Amino acid sequence: MKVAEEIISFCTKCKIDLAHAVVAMQGDRAVRVMCKTCKGEHAYRAPKGITDPSMAPKKKSERVSKTVVTVAEDWETKMALHKNSPVKDYSTKNQYKAGERIEHPSFGTGLVEKLIHPNKIEVIFKTEIKMLICAPSN
Ligand SMILES: [Zn+2]
Repeated sequence: MKVAEEIISFCTKCKIDLAHAVVAMQGDRAVRVMCKTCKGEHAYRAPKGITDPSMAPKKKSERVSKTVVTVAEDWETKMALHKNSPVKDYSTKNQYKAGERIEHPSFGTGLVEKLIHPNKIEVIFKTEIKMLICAPSN
């Protein structure tokens, strides 16, 4: 190891492990390095195994990347998929099938996702997924 050689260090600015150039040595150890990505110079930090910025500890101001499908998005997709299904009023006395749409007085229009034997249905509404009581199936 010598000055100007490449070394992998944790970059304190980029918050990930990156290739750095050695700036200063102490004995045979790098003590100061320069990040080849942000050109920032800082003390050598052992790599932390972080190679993806999203894995780095988050600052409060950082925008969290949204990868999770929200209930609303899921609901929209499913409603579009079943736009020709009959819409039934919700009643505990009615029986429902998966794929049927229901109109609920409080939650709006939902889609029956599955039947839970003997008398419950799981329904996706725009704001949340609900377990509702229905008439027992035969
Ligand atoms: Zn950097």
